Amino acid sequence: YKIMAVKRPTFKLVLLGEVGVGKTSLFVRLKDDTFLEDTKASIGVDFCETLVKVEGEEVRLCIWDTAGVERFRTMTQGYYRHADAALLVFSLADSASLRLLTSWAREVNDRTVTSNSPVLKIIVGNKSDLEHRTTERTAAELAATYGCELVLQVSAKTGEGIDEAVQVIAGKLLARS
Ligand code: GDP
Ligand code: MG
Repeated sequence: YKIMAVKRPTFKLVLLGEVGVGKTSLFVRLKDDTFLEDTKASIGVDFCETLVKVEGEEVRLCIWDTAGVERFRTMTQGYYRHADAALLVFSLADSASLRLLTSWAREVNDRTVTSNSPVLKIIVGNKSDLEHRTTERTAAELAATYGCELVLQVSAKTGEGIDEAVQVIAGKLLARS
């Protein structure tokens, strides 16, 4: 008899947002469930896969990190190719990082116009462990304007809200697939 390969639903997620908001820290948290004080140690590692269980179903998430090139907005077309979701990350402790997500939301739209299905955009508020300098209302307005889902309050550092965020994101992707 043959062992059947289990075909799990698989989704590609790309991390976007300003330098310093914690994309690489989220990447490391999702990959190894840990926090590195020095994310420079993870440079060069810009792609990982993780299995999550959503509504009793195993889902594979392929997560891509910019590896620092967001500073120059030089992500390649390959970065966006076949992306199912874009995580637009801002820091809850940095209001400019939220404001600047408008340009990231537009960038996603511009770079994925030729995709078969529209990319799910999710605004993610990171660094919930720090004092907040952004409001929920501003984030909600931005999400409404650009047609994004909103996941507020995660911390790559403490792990707060991470599991919930993964459930929400994978759940939305499953529901659309
Ligand atoms: P990136 O440029 O978006 O990849 O951001 P990094 O992941 O390199 O993080 C930038 C800085 O923010 C680093 O000093 C991280 O240690 C710190 N950082 C990332 N996530 C958190 C968090 O959830 N809480 C706190 N307090 N600091 C964080
Ligand atoms: Mg980084």
